[in-house]
Amino acid sequence: MGLQTARLKGLNEADAHLLALREKERCLQEDVRQGERGVSEAERQCADIAAQLQQAQAAVGAHDLEVKALEERIYRLKSQRLACQTNKEYQTLSSEIASIGTDIRRMDDQGLALLGAVDQVEARAKEAAARLAAVRAEQAAAQARASAGQDAVRSEISAAETARATHLPGLDAEVLDRYERLLRSRGGTAVAAAIDRVCQGCFTKLSPQVVSLLLSDRDLVTCPSCSRILFVEGAAADAHRQAPSAT
Ligand SMILES: [Zn+2]
Repeated sequence: MGLQTARLKGLNEADAHLLALREKERCLQEDVRQGERGVSEAERQCADIAAQLQQAQAAVGAHDLEVKALEERIYRLKSQRLACQTNKEYQTLSSEIASIGTDIRRMDDQGLALLGAVDQVEARAKEAAARLAAVRAEQAAAQARASAGQDAVRSEISAAETARATHLPGLDAEVLDRYERLLRSRGGTAVAAAIDRVCQGCFTKLSPQVVSLLLSDRDLVTCPSCSRILFVEGAAADAHRQAPSAT
């Protein structure tokens, strides 16, 4: 393996490790954000139910006022009836009183239904409040876990960055630039092993010419298909040498 290739291989291993650590850090942050979304959702549900409760209570209040107005009307009609002069007038008032009485009884049934609705919404409000408290507690725990995890991951990242820097001396700027571009465009793998004459980056079979360049320890041999920088080492190199050069 050429010198630059060997350095890039070490650098790519360090970068893969860094990528994994940064992904771990991102996941921890995502857990916290997901928890925050859960809390917002539970808060929104509580607010919705509180508004529904207010509406249900307002309906009970309006209903009570209506009943009270009818009762006052009955009271006035009864006073009028006491003072009436004719039998006909008495009967008219009595029938009006009776009709309003019927209305009030009907409204009493409605009133019970409205109170029942308030009870139901109150029960839902209680459940929603309990759910919100549970989600908030869960979120606080997730936040604490994430903070501890993030501290650990950050110190691992810092150590990995130091380790990565040890692979940089001796690398040509141009080679490093090419490596960085490959790293970005090839999902974090810029340097790939050739095993059984197959590029392990894109799994394309390599031509005998490419294999022979690799076995001659030529530096910076690339995969014709994915452009990754190839290497062979140890037993894999021996296997390449033993295998027929073309199939
Ligand atoms: Zn390839």
